Amino acid sequence: MSTPTYPTEKCRSCPAQVIWAVTERGKSMPVDAEPAAGGNVQLVERYGQLTAVVVPVKRAFGRTTLRKSHLMTCPHADEWRRR
Ligand SMILES: [Zn+2]
Repeated sequence: MSTPTYPTEKCRSCPAQVIWAVTERGKSMPVDAEPAAGGNVQLVERYGQLTAVVVPVKRAFGRTTLRKSHLMTCPHADEWRRR
């Protein structure tokens, strides 16, 4: 199975590459560019919009294509929360 690639850009606060997606509530959310163990965010195209779907822990277990929200991994996440 090939993994789709998405456009990435550098985080505004740290050197990480992130993918900008929209949450199911319509808010912009940066997601780590690379899938990671323990990730719980699945990127799906929905109505032409790259959407970040949060997968419940039970269903996320053992999956290798899930990413982490960059809000969780960014060393400057405090700045994100203040926005
Ligand atoms: Zn960052």
